[in-house]
Amino acid sequence: MPTLHKIRSVAKTTTARLRTTTARLALSYLAIIMLMSIGFSVVFYNASLHELRRPPHPTNSQMQLDNRPHPERDPFIASLLKTRAEEGRKELLKRLIGLNLIALVAGTALSYYLARRTLEPIERNMEAQAQFVSDASHELRTPLTALQTTNEVALRKHKLSESEARDLLAHNVAEVAKLQALTDGLLRLARPDRTMQHVPVALQNAASDAMNALIEAAQAKNISIEEAVPNVRVLGDEPSIVQAIKILLDNAVKYSPQDSHIKLTGGRSGRQGFITVQDHGQGIAAKDLPHIFDRFYRADQSRGKHAEDGYGIGLSLAKKLVHQMDGEIVVTSTPGKGSTFTIRLPLTANQ
Ligand code: ADP
Repeated sequence: MPTLHKIRSVAKTTTARLRTTTARLALSYLAIIMLMSIGFSVVFYNASLHELRRPPHPTNSQMQLDNRPHPERDPFIASLLKTRAEEGRKELLKRLIGLNLIALVAGTALSYYLARRTLEPIERNMEAQAQFVSDASHELRTPLTALQTTNEVALRKHKLSESEARDLLAHNVAEVAKLQALTDGLLRLARPDRTMQHVPVALQNAASDAMNALIEAAQAKNISIEEAVPNVRVLGDEPSIVQAIKILLDNAVKYSPQDSHIKLTGGRSGRQGFITVQDHGQGIAAKDLPHIFDRFYRADQSRGKHAEDGYGIGLSLAKKLVHQMDGEIVVTSTPGKGSTFTIRLPLTANQ
């Protein structure tokens, strides 16, 4: 609990800090806008003043025609021109001040909008990170508490027989292995997106690699895996494709009963190649289907019966990997009958 409190207070501090940063950034934007507006006004004012104060230059022929002295030498015209120039100057000043006031009001709104837009993605990232840390520490707490409790109970006993000690150690090792799997998954999920290779990958080979990794777990439940993936080449990153198929196969084995059957098929459809993992297991309820790719989401029945089997990060990792390769991952399922997961990836150009 104290950890969660700490995380929440860190999140609050981060939000407050972001607000200050938004205000600071908005002020900087406003300063730039106002500097430009005032600078432009000063230049415009000086240029206009120069024009206003400049006496008219009648052409020689006009002066000869009217037989008048040059306006600058005519005191009446000169004073008239001066008054007009002064009036013009005042009017210009009024308008420029008005314009700058409008720039200040509009600039404040614009600066705030721009600052929000600049910081929004950063804020979203920070929130996602805080949420991730909070979820991860929550998930880590369960196996850690189990580990602590069993050890404390054993310690309270006055005497521990060799077989009891062995059982305890075996339990500890199993819990540590689960923790290791969880932290590995978390690290892979949290790792910043690396640039994926987009090279031709034979789906058949990727399927075989994934199958080999899961064959033992399937045999332990007497589950048969049939592989019928045709020779289709997609563009992607081979280790990531293998990992995504492994996650689907692992789930198919986990959520299928003893003595059942899993089928791996594939093909091409339009500009995409696909691979399908079909099981005849417990299936997924309609209410859970939209959420199973969310991080840490586990359907109620998985939490109850197989609480020790997973942490709800496999599918979110598979989705992340497939999306990074410009592909998609979809599922159809009938509760009690089984599920079919399909990974679609872009085909290589020459297919
Ligand atoms: P987990 O470690 O819990 O298996 P995943 O992210 O791989 O995490 O899966 C999320 C949830 O989706 C599972 O807890 C389970 O409820 C459901 N699920 C995934 N694959 C299957 C499947 N083949 N059959 C039934 N339910 C599945």
